[in-house]
Amino acid sequence: MSPLKAAFLAVCLIASALFFLTGNSIAGSFTTVVIDPGHGGKDKGAFWYGVKEKTLTLDVALRVEKLLKARGLRTALTRRSDVYTSLDQRAAIANRYSRSIFVSIHFNAHTNRSIKGLETFYSSSAGRNIARAVQRRIVYKIKGKNRGIKKSVFAVLMRTRAPAILIEAGFLSNLSEGRRCQTEWYRQTLAQAIVDGILSTR
Ligand SMILES: [Zn+2]
Repeated sequence: MSPLKAAFLAVCLIASALFFLTGNSIAGSFTTVVIDPGHGGKDKGAFWYGVKEKTLTLDVALRVEKLLKARGLRTALTRRSDVYTSLDQRAAIANRYSRSIFVSIHFNAHTNRSIKGLETFYSSSAGRNIARAVQRRIVYKIKGKNRGIKKSVFAVLMRTRAPAILIEAGFLSNLSEGRRCQTEWYRQTLAQAIVDGILSTR
């Protein structure tokens, strides 16, 4: 190998090592978790059997916040009451924080009421690592059907600079899963599993 080729190869190796290391540290060194309770105000989200998605997402978000604070992390919520917040506003709030990750919480619905389970979306590779860790834990703790992690182009994920995930934590349109989502056990267990998953990636 010529000295020029060897030097070129060395530069490439160093560059890829740096990319790998910094990529990892961005995902791994966050100090703030921006929690995004889906929907709110005039936007009810899914609405089945008298249960509104916007109510459940806020409840879980507040539980996640409490658990994260107890573990010494900083948190921010995109809303903390029943108010409408646009997707742009949510991303703008998230983008105020450096060294952060973004966790959006939703519940699902489908006109086919037999469909059930939990799934987590991401848009970047750093987001995928967090999505994988969270999805594994929520499915295990809730004993829910694993619908897997999925890459998405949801606006709220794309407009957020930090690694971002969006959790769909069960189908309100499925009678039995919807009933489970309404129990405090489900929402507290879900919140704990989300926090365990998040912290495992630090
Ligand atoms: Zn939703």
